Amino acid sequence: MGPQKKKFQRNVSYNDWIRRAACVEYPPEWFLGGTAQDHQHAVRVCNVCPVRQECLDEAVGSGLTWGTWGGTTPAERA
Ligand code: SF4
Repeated sequence: MGPQKKKFQRNVSYNDWIRRAACVEYPPEWFLGGTAQDHQHAVRVCNVCPVRQECLDEAVGSGLTWGTWGGTTPAERA
């Protein structure tokens, strides 16, 4: 029996864009629904993020009620 090839498995539709997220370089608390100042910091990052639309689509599609996604607050996504 020869060596078995391992398949590289991942959730393509989610991970492809999340790996390019600008927020990975910044404090997580900015994006987790903290203070208004946290949200302001997060929005500055989101504004230059290359996957902002994908992120917003994920938040809206999943009905996420917390945190800053795609530069929006939960209230703005409602
Ligand atoms: S839009 Fe904002 S929260 Fe979404 S991946 Fe980009 S930096 Fe992160």
